[in-house]
This record gives sequence, structure tokens and C-alpha cells, in this order.
Amino acid sequence: MPRLEDVADFEVVVIGSGPGGQKAAIAAAKLEKRVAVVERRNMIGGVCINTGTIPSKTLREAVLYLTGLNQREMYGQSYRVKDEITVGDLGIRTQHVIGREIDVIRSQLARNHVTVLMGSARFVDAHTLDVVDEAGRGVKVTADKIIVATGTRPARAESYKVAALDAMNKLRRVARFEL
Ligand SMILES: Cc1cc2nc3c(=O)[nH]c(=O)nc-3n(C[C@H](O)[C@H](O)[C@H](O)COP(=O)(O)OP(=O)(O)OC[C@H]3O[C@@H](n4cnc5c(N)ncnc54)[C@H](O)[C@@H]3O)c2cc1C
Repeated sequence: MPRLEDVADFEVVVIGSGPGGQKAAIAAAKLEKRVAVVERRNMIGGVCINTGTIPSKTLREAVLYLTGLNQREMYGQSYRVKDEITVGDLGIRTQHVIGREIDVIRSQLARNHVTVLMGSARFVDAHTLDVVDEAGRGVKVTADKIIVATGTRPARAESYKVAALDAMNKLRRVARFEL
């Protein structure tokens, strides 16, 4: 069991740092509240930055660039930037963009004096959270107001299989389609 001896007190605590949580935290900070955001490790920016909007569009753009598809009208149908596109090529580009976006969010929160607490939050009562990180270290967090901005999960269709984007980093090779 984590030891929850440390207590941190805020006027507003937001659970989740996705687009919803970020905006709530910054709006509260602009009202001069003492604000904290609680987020799990490697998830600053939420689904939008880490597994959803940004990675999906970066992957699409990376594929369009590396296959040369958008340039073929100019350079001919056989034009390609890279002959063998690997999962590594796509991963490097995606991680680079994710890293940059995380920096933007971190600095936006810091500029507005929003404290970021890394860990998973659990309600103890209406004004108290236990926040426990991956190593099992915990802190008790109290707040006048707690905003839940924990997002959702995509629904999975039963009738057909779709590769989840967050499973991309487990792929070992890129599926080949005729373009
Ligand atoms: C593949 C994909 C592509 C998408 N593309 C687009 C697009 O092109 N355009 C668009 O507008 N939207 C897109 N979306 C949707 C968009 O990502 C979501 O609408 C948006 O991220 C929701 O924001 P949110 O703040 O509500 O929640 P989220 O972004 O889900 O953030 C919630 C955060 O809460 C954290 N959290 C949850 N529980 C706890 C807890 N107990 N303790 C601490 N932290 C916790 C999670 O770690 C997470 O980071 C896409 C989604 C997916 C999956």
C-alpha cells in the first residue's frame, strides 16, 4: 500500500490533462485560483496528444511524405522518399511531434502556475484525492473544487477488427497496400 503522508492543498484540482482538463485548469488559474492537474505518467496532453488526434494525423502525414504520394504528380509515379518504410520510421516522426506538443502543454501550464502532479487519482471523499504514481509513492491532495476531465475510451465494433492506434508501437512491420 502506498504511504500517503504528504498532503497538498489547492483551490482547484483537475483530474486529467487532455484538452478538457488543460482548458479547465488554465481558466481556473486565470481566475487566480491555486490549481493542480493530476495526470498519469506518459499521458500529459491526454488521448489527443499521446494516442489519438496528434499521432493519427502525424502517422498519416508521415506515410504521405515517405511514400512520396503527394509529390508524384511533379516527380512521376515511381517517386518515393524512402523505399522500405518501417514501423521505426513512422514511430520516430510520431514521437518527435508528440514530444514537442507535450513541451507546449507543460510550458502553458507552467506559465499559468498550474502544478502538475504525476499519478493516478482516486477519490477519498468529495474534497480529497489519493494520487499514486507508478512507483507506488502517494500524496493526499485536498481541494475546494475537483474537476473530473478523465476522457473516454473509443467504442470497439464487434463486427470487424480495427487495429487500435495505441497498439501501433507493438507492430513489427508495416502492412503493404497498393497506392
Ligand atoms: C484515434 C483517435 C483520433 C482522434 N482524432 C481526433 C481529431 O482528429 N479531432 C478531434 O477533435 N478529436 C479527435 N479525437 C478525439 C480526441 O482525442 C478526444 O475528444 C479528446 O482527447 C478528449 O479530451 P478530454 O480532455 O476529454 O480527454 P482525454 O484526452 O481522454 O484525457 C483524459 C486524461 O485523463 C487521464 N486520466 C484518466 N483517469 C485518470 C485518473 N484516475 N488519474 C489521473 N489521470 C487520469 C488520462 O490519462 C488522460 O490523459 C481522436 C481520438 C482518437 C482515439
